Parts: sequence; C-alpha cells; structure tokens
Amino acid sequence: MIGRLAPSPTGAQHVGNARTYLIAWLSVRSRGGRIVLRIEDIDSPRVKPGAEQQAYYDLQWLGFDWDEGPILQTRRMEEYRAALVQLQRRELVYPCTCTRSDVDRAASAPHLEHEGPVYPGTCAGRRVRDEAELAHRPYCWRFRVPAESPTFLDGFRGLTRIDLRQVGGDFVVWKTPLPGMTTSLPAYQLAVVVDDAAQGVTEVVRGDDLLPSTPRQLLLYQALGLTPPQFVHVPLVVGPDGRRLAKRHGDTRLSSLREAGVRPEMLLGLLAWSCGWLTAIEPIVLRELLPLFRLETIPREPFVLTPELLGRIGYG
Ligand code: GLU
Ligand code: ZN
Repeated sequence: MIGRLAPSPTGAQHVGNARTYLIAWLSVRSRGGRIVLRIEDIDSPRVKPGAEQQAYYDLQWLGFDWDEGPILQTRRMEEYRAALVQLQRRELVYPCTCTRSDVDRAASAPHLEHEGPVYPGTCAGRRVRDEAELAHRPYCWRFRVPAESPTFLDGFRGLTRIDLRQVGGDFVVWKTPLPGMTTSLPAYQLAVVVDDAAQGVTEVVRGDDLLPSTPRQLLLYQALGLTPPQFVHVPLVVGPDGRRLAKRHGDTRLSSLREAGVRPEMLLGLLAWSCGWLTAIEPIVLRELLPLFRLETIPREPFVLTPELLGRIGYG
C-alpha cells in the first residue's frame, strides 16, 4: 500500500487541506502502508514563494510523516515530456491554438464552476504533424476524449460515472507557454498520472472537487499502459454558506491557527469528530487515531466549518 500527500504550494494550507491529508494518511498508515510526499509545484505562475516550506511545517505540526520525498514536480520534466511523446506517437493528442476566450465564446451549455466550458473541438481535426505549421503561434496539446468515458469504483462514493463529453471535452495535457516564455509545462492531469505511477501510488485520497479529473486520468493511465490506483474522493470542508472554504470565511490557514496558539491535538480532535471517529471534540494525537479510522463513518455531505467550531478549539 502506498498513499501520498500532494500539496500545491500555490497558497497556504488550510483546515480543508488538513482534513483530506488526515484521511489520506490514516487510510494508508492504519494498514501499514507507506506515504510519499509530493510537491505539486508546476502550477506557475500561481506557485507562491515560501509556500512549500510552510507546507512542511504545517504537515509536521499535525504529526504527519512520510517515507519518501519531498519529490518536486519541477524536477521531473523529462518524465512528463516522455509521456507526451508517447501520446503523440499514438495520435491521442493534437495541438490546439484556441485561446480561453475562443473556447468561452464557442461554449453553448452552462458549465460546472471549476470545470470551464466544454471544449468545442475546433482543433480536433489536426494531426500531430501539423505542429510543424504552428511554429509562430502558441498552442497546447489536447487529449482526444473517446465516446465512452471510463467509469470507476470510488472507494468512498462507489460507482462513479462522469461523461467527459459533457464535462470539459478534450482536455489539456500540455499547457500553452505563458506570454513571453518559450518553455511550456505539463498540465496537472498528465503530471499527476506520471507521478502516481512512477511513485507506485496504490491509493489516491483527495477532495471530491477533483472528481471530474479522475476519468481523464484513467484515460491517461490506459493510453500510457499504466495501472491506476484506487481512487477515494472525500467531501470538502465548506463555510457556513455552503461554499468551499475560502478567504471570505475568515482565516483558516494552518499557519494562522498555529500562530494563534491552537494545539494540533485540538484541530485533530475537531477533524476526527467531523469524520465520525470521536463522539466529542477532544484533544487527540495522530497516532491515537490509527485504530479509530473508518472511511464508512465519514459523512457524505461536506463538513461545515463555523466560527463556533473554531472557537471550541481555541481559535478566534
Ligand atoms: N495538489 C492538489 C491539491 O492540493 C491535489 C492533486 C491530487 O490529489 O490529485 O489540490
Ligand atoms: Zn483549439
């Protein structure tokens, strides 16, 4: 069993991230498995200076440990490049010159908040060799989504079915270079598959905001001849208004809780209670949660974090 923690240093880690890491870590550790720490730092220009170091402090503060890593995505460009070449050899991808506003303008149907419109297929008639004629314009590489999207048996939600032709359509595996830059970067979808496979990850626990990514990643596993992990998507932490945790809900950064003197055992107690492993919010250390961990007791609904609950662990 190998699991992973995969923070993105695009900002601070907050209480929502901590809950997902807790479930991911306990799920693997309670069965004697290993943990890989991977830093998903290819999301420039959103990567923030100092956020990587801060993520280590945050994880250690709560008592998380890992057997391998930190592995930085920015050090693994050759591997991602090699995967793109494999996809190109099989004509599974094509160069796309559409800008974001081209795609927005062509979109007919309303779309999910985080997903963006369905790519209308404007460039789908291109072949890989047509890249030669595009030397003067920026382009990304898109994966051709087949008629049937893969369904999967999620470890928390059960059988899950998402039709990619209705969610996003052909998706980007290699991004358009940023203005003024000559080098381009892999998209999250490609990097995460190459990494999870190379790092031997057998279980991916993550927030259910990433559900639409999973059929895409399964297509990439298939295309690259790799074995996918077990996917487990857990509900997010939301604010009192039901929207995912964000600045408008106040400061829930782990670093802020720490600086305000909140004890990590209190936060763990709150999160363990929210997952149904404790009947009351009481201090507990990570090790003591190992025998209490159950995926089945985690509520299906998002966890609503209120100022009142934060007050009960000594914050605010
Ligand atoms: N780095 C992503 C995040 O922090 C997680 C990606 C994943 O779990 O696949 O949201
Ligand atoms: Zn296009």
